Amino acid sequence: MQKLFERIDGLEEAAVSLTQDLIRIPTVNPPGDAYTPCAELIGERLRAAGFDVVYERGEGTPGDSDKHPRTNIVARREGRRPGPCLHFNGHIDVVEPGEGWTRDPYGAEVEDGRIYGRGSCDMKGGIAASIIAAEAILQEGVPFDGAIEISGTVDEETGGYGGVAYLAGKGFFSKPRVDHVIIPEPLNVDRVCVGHRGVWWAEVCTHGHIAHGSMPFLGDCAVRHMGAFLDKLESDLYPALADRQTAMPVVPEGAKQSTLNIASIHGGLPDNFNGLPSSLVPDLCKVILDRRFLIEEPLDQVKAEIVALLDALEKERPGFRYDVRDIMEFEPTLTDLEAPVVQAVSDQIEAQFGHKPETICSPGTYDQKHVFRIGQLKDCIAYGPGILDLAHQPDEYIEIDAIMTSAKVMAGAALTLLNGETASS
Ligand SMILES: [Zn+2]
Repeated sequence: MQKLFERIDGLEEAAVSLTQDLIRIPTVNPPGDAYTPCAELIGERLRAAGFDVVYERGEGTPGDSDKHPRTNIVARREGRRPGPCLHFNGHIDVVEPGEGWTRDPYGAEVEDGRIYGRGSCDMKGGIAASIIAAEAILQEGVPFDGAIEISGTVDEETGGYGGVAYLAGKGFFSKPRVDHVIIPEPLNVDRVCVGHRGVWWAEVCTHGHIAHGSMPFLGDCAVRHMGAFLDKLESDLYPALADRQTAMPVVPEGAKQSTLNIASIHGGLPDNFNGLPSSLVPDLCKVILDRRFLIEEPLDQVKAEIVALLDALEKERPGFRYDVRDIMEFEPTLTDLEAPVVQAVSDQIEAQFGHKPETICSPGTYDQKHVFRIGQLKDCIAYGPGILDLAHQPDEYIEIDAIMTSAKVMAGAALTLLNGETASS
């Protein structure tokens, strides 16, 4: 192990330039820009290291087109004899830079031990760490059983349909091909993330009746009906959600309770109207609900309590009509704390830091859901370099030290999982 870690230390420059090269390809999603060159950068590098490489386009998945192909890359390197397979999965897409940057979001500037850029932390630094870990094992000639796989997948930021979900549907995240999965998301370099809360996105519409704005009594205002619904959320639902605490170790503390974000509201005139408003009673109002629920809450109950509030309004308010449309839903996931990948990574973190890692769950979902649900593979965690709070922020950065330390943890965990060795051996 010691020689392997020294080898990784010697690869610091390679890790920095790989991370920079990845950041400089602006894989912004939506719409899904530059996926192919980014996938090829990873694929050709791993091919040079002796991996078998395939490119799998998520054909027909949301957003896929010839202009924006959903290009995934999966690389596999066989060990000395058959055995288990450890797969490192990183998403190559990044969110748009947004406002507030003091640096070039795609410049990958290095300063004070940090690499700046969109996607540096979420999660190109993590992808680089996993590649460096694998390259170090191979360069050092450490024998291993089974296989190491590394994938770069698309669309995590928009649900992962063209990425991990697509590949999982084709058997890429199932036994017997794969046994253990590490997703190097930025959840802090000394923590192991074993799952996430559930999510339900829904659109709620209230309906009214259009009329001249000077005679609203001849119409029925959909915005007022929506106001009544929002009142009910405030008086009935929000206090109830605050009382529900999960036993899952979700961070930050505020996300241990059940939450609801009202992500948008729209009714009446278009929100980009110019000039004077036209005088109309709005006949439609829409909100988007972003409900994050706990492993203790069944999804049908999460939906039913919203419908119950709307049904109550239908009885109380003359003319109240509504509909609810599901947009997206994913159940919470939780990996067994005794699972091999949790143990292997925890032992390596302890060896690096001298203290036991914090075991956490993520407030939001990530691609683990597809590995669980479609791949039916439960031995999966997120572990990687980067500070969670920096993800999606301006001036996002990754600490070079964190890339290097996490590469050691990943390499050590790989040998434990593939060869059955332990941190001390
Ligand atoms: Zn991410």
